[in-house]
Amino acid sequence: MADKFRALLATKEGDRQSVAVTELTDADLMDGEVTVAVEHSTVNYKDGLAIMGTVPIIRKFPLIPGVDLAGSVLHSEDPRFQAGDRVVLNGFGVGEMHHGGYAERARVKGDWLIRLPKNISTAQAMAIGTAGYTAMLCVLALEQAGMTPASGAVLVTGAAGGVGSVAIALLDKLGYHVVASSRRTEQEADYLRGLGAAEIVDARELSEGGSPLGKERWAGAVDSVGSRTLANLLSQIHYDGAVAACGLAQGSDLPATVLPFILRDVTLAGVNSVWTPRAKREEAWDRLAIDLDLAKLNRMTSRARLDDVPALAAEILAGKIRGRVVIDL
Ligand code: NDP
Repeated sequence: MADKFRALLATKEGDRQSVAVTELTDADLMDGEVTVAVEHSTVNYKDGLAIMGTVPIIRKFPLIPGVDLAGSVLHSEDPRFQAGDRVVLNGFGVGEMHHGGYAERARVKGDWLIRLPKNISTAQAMAIGTAGYTAMLCVLALEQAGMTPASGAVLVTGAAGGVGSVAIALLDKLGYHVVASSRRTEQEADYLRGLGAAEIVDARELSEGGSPLGKERWAGAVDSVGSRTLANLLSQIHYDGAVAACGLAQGSDLPATVLPFILRDVTLAGVNSVWTPRAKREEAWDRLAIDLDLAKLNRMTSRARLDDVPALAAEILAGKIRGRVVIDL
């Protein structure tokens, strides 16, 4: 039948969650006004958590995981979209409660779709993915807090990961002095400098110990690591500086004190990409089209296929993936 397509499907029996590539039809898709021929998806840290079942990200079974997708519209009952439009979807509970990006086809709400800027292909959109779009949201948060390249050095933690890699490339192009914090300083030094890191620090300097108020080292930071790392870098932010916090690769705890806030006017800006309103998403994608060096994006991206996703899920949780991975559907 013509409406058959391949998908990675997560199922659950008792407590045991598993995933397998299978063949579905349009009748298996959920409600939505727009049907998309998915060309590419990606693997984010959250996809790793969902597929490995580490935490209950998937809240409905059976479900196609994948929090991101990009492709072209096949059919639309939403007047904002026509067949052939190139679109991207990040978050909105896709891959959690609604069938997601690990399938050749998706049926979704028009409200969830963003039309891609002209200079970003569907493959590049997934090289960016939720990780890269979140990095852009972090940069917007720093700008909103008043930060400019003249403010001083900006630290990027989890530097060789997805959010970190895109954040470095963006901040460098915007003229910031970027300092990359990585656990893989030796292995990834050339990679990080190639993206635009002016300095590299060993992540262990930040992930252990620390004092409530340290020497002022950074004007700002993009943090995808959380836990002790976030607590330590907060204690090292300059007077009136800002931190955009989006991740928990080290942990979801925050063993910090209020001293950076009450003695140094430090701003801690939270970033959630999943439920970001449409206008801000469009702003982020428009800025990505201008402020992200696509040659650097290409350098940080590897390609894989649907059948590779389960293995990549384990790798991303182990902190072994460099930059971003595009899944070709
Ligand atoms: P990646 O795995 O690609 O990057 C995470 C990086 O963090 C790793 O590459 C590694 O960098 C570092 N890291 C991993 N484990 C640890 C650890 N135990 N201690 C210290 N550092 C560690 O993931 P993503 O970039 O896709 O996501 C990063 C984080 O941001 C995740 O926690 C994710 O859930 C979160 N996130 C949140 C979003 C939101 O909406 N708030 C959206 C997107 C992501 P290195 O090897 O250089 O040290």
